[in-house]
Amino acid sequence: MISNTNRLSLLKEALDKLHKGYGPSYLESDPLLLAHKYTTPEDQEVVGFLAAVFAYGHVPQILRNLRVILTPLSGSVAEAIRKGNASSWKRVYKGYAYRFQQQGDLILLLWLLRQVLADSGSLQASFLRFYVPHRDEPLPMRRALTEWVGYLRQTLRSSPGWGALENPRGIYHLLPDPASGSPCKRWNLYLRWMVRGPDGLDLGLWKSIPTRHLILPLDTHTARICGYLRLTSRAAPSWAMAEEITQTLRNLDPEDPIRYDFSIARLGILARCTKKMDRNRCVSCELSRICHAEEDLPSGSRPRAKAGKRVPVSRQRGPLVS
Ligand code: SF4
Repeated sequence: MISNTNRLSLLKEALDKLHKGYGPSYLESDPLLLAHKYTTPEDQEVVGFLAAVFAYGHVPQILRNLRVILTPLSGSVAEAIRKGNASSWKRVYKGYAYRFQQQGDLILLLWLLRQVLADSGSLQASFLRFYVPHRDEPLPMRRALTEWVGYLRQTLRSSPGWGALENPRGIYHLLPDPASGSPCKRWNLYLRWMVRGPDGLDLGLWKSIPTRHLILPLDTHTARICGYLRLTSRAAPSWAMAEEITQTLRNLDPEDPIRYDFSIARLGILARCTKKMDRNRCVSCELSRICHAEEDLPSGSRPRAKAGKRVPVSRQRGPLVS
């Protein structure tokens, strides 16, 4: 029987190895790439915001959509938004559509950004109005985000274009509410980009927020792989699951628990770990010593090992607890 201490040290060793393997050269597979194309913090936080709220779907589609949005906002994106107005955006983005969003949703979003910049000067200053951790509050992010999203949605409802919107679902989808229990991957991703670093990946612009307060940006890939690693005992992605995984990662790095996120997500995004377990991939996977994926497959559907190849999958059962 392996003790929890040994399991944590095996986990740390494996995740550190994975983390080292996915540096800035992998930015091409991430919407964060576009924020790196800008040089001022002001533009980076605005482009990061747009990249994060639209970070759903496949990465090539996400990047294509962002280029459609950013190309007309040439020069300084923040300045272009400050000086823009709904009628010019209607002309520029005529016929715009991306999955759940139509032209009206995009125009409202740009209007919202303009309003937030006018109200607070920057997105960071706007968020910090709500990020006021109570004394000894270990996990303040859900509350801060919930209040900030409440302010963003309320501001939207006061916009001149709100009444013309047939259905608010498209714009609300861009601004999910953590109070609903959703993991809100895109908000936590945005915060990771802004708060962590700079390390060539994350931008490290919002320095007054400690990285220990960040929550893992949980998507279907990270939820599945973290399940294989027994970092969670929950079945479905939720805010509670994201917090549970983050808590365990704090045992590995108390100050910067979500530094592992980018590399874990690459396994799924780059199809190096797929839902259908492929033992040939597992053989070279940095996580193979601590992965329980084989136990999660229904019996009878487990792939057969090729002759001579043995995958060192641990047989330990149960969630990893701290
Ligand atoms: S060992 Fe296999 S199943 Fe486990 S994380 Fe790696 S690729 Fe995925």
